[in-house]
Amino acid sequence: MPEQPGKSAIDVRGVRKVFGTGESQVAALDTVSVSIRENEFFTLLGPSGCGKTTLLRLIAGFDFPSAGEILLHGQDIASLPPFKRPVNTVFQSYALFPHMTVAENIGFGLEMLGKPKAEIKARVAEMLKLVKMEALRGRRTSQISGGQQQRVALARALAPQPKVLLLDEPLSALDFKLRKEMQIELKRLQHETGITFIFVTHDQEEALTMSDRIAVMSSGKILQVGTPWDIYDKPAERFVADFIGETNFLTAAIASIGKGKVRATLKSGATIEATVAEGFQPKDNATVVVRPEHAKLTSGKGDLSGTVENIVYFGTDTHIHVRLDSSEAFTVRQQNTRSAGCGFERGDKVGISIGNDAAQVLRD
Ligand code: ATP
Repeated sequence: MPEQPGKSAIDVRGVRKVFGTGESQVAALDTVSVSIRENEFFTLLGPSGCGKTTLLRLIAGFDFPSAGEILLHGQDIASLPPFKRPVNTVFQSYALFPHMTVAENIGFGLEMLGKPKAEIKARVAEMLKLVKMEALRGRRTSQISGGQQQRVALARALAPQPKVLLLDEPLSALDFKLRKEMQIELKRLQHETGITFIFVTHDQEEALTMSDRIAVMSSGKILQVGTPWDIYDKPAERFVADFIGETNFLTAAIASIGKGKVRATLKSGATIEATVAEGFQPKDNATVVVRPEHAKLTSGKGDLSGTVENIVYFGTDTHIHVRLDSSEAFTVRQQNTRSAGCGFERGDKVGISIGNDAAQVLRD
């Protein structure tokens, strides 16, 4: 899907955030730049400690950058305290007031802003409807379920009509089924309100299914920004390919270079055509990346050959783990059909065919 450029809501420019001093110094953010567009569902994705929450806190104004600037609709917001920014946050813990009712919780921020009573009443009613909590408006938040608390937290954060909503792992406390429901609900809320959502998660599947665009972070840096499609299909770095979905990595060297393609020699001596994201020279070391669903197992000869080591059934598909003759591991994901098994057994000698455009080379 081609990217649709839009007006930027938040511009993060060369932002660094350093905690501590001397030897205990940590660069939580190491010169990060990114533009987040209006009306976008944007996700910061990365492993624990990569700096996602720190970036969110800087945008919210709970903390200040050590260097760089953050613009909101082109204006530097460094001097604005959190409550003056048109930005609101939904925390993982929800941070609701247990002694207040659902409606009082939703209206709390508006009360603090000194809005007129009639306006608060109307806005709370609108928010209750938006998150489908009208029936529980008079219930204390200590007496509702986790999923319902989540809806109240969202309604409360949306009530003052922020331009940007920051969501810090808001679904992590929910069980699997509720989490899936709330993912759809969040997408609906973003779509209906048109507010820019900046969503933090370490769950790659959640990021892929919910986001318009994703920034993949590691060790205080943004490694790649793109649509879920881009990030999954054209990872710019090995870390991104590894972090998003399952991937096979094969050691290779560049044999020859064409337009947007190379031929890479694998450990087995076989060569394979692969797409490239960056410049390579002949004989460069490289890694060939192939997603398990883009390879096909055959009982005859393929691009690769090996022996089936393990077969794992997942209902919709089966993962077949193969030990290649080069001694590298390789997984093939095969769609299941209703009546037949996967057609292979442990110990089978197999070939693996790699589809056209399925292999990509990355820096070693
Ligand atoms: P998680 O998914 O676990 O919440 P994260 O990606 O949100 O992680 P951050 O909380 O932003 O990561 O932390 C980034 C780095 O900065 C970590 O190494 C963390 O230990 C460090 N850090 C964060 N806040 C502080 C602080 N107040 N003082 C010192 N170090 C901090």
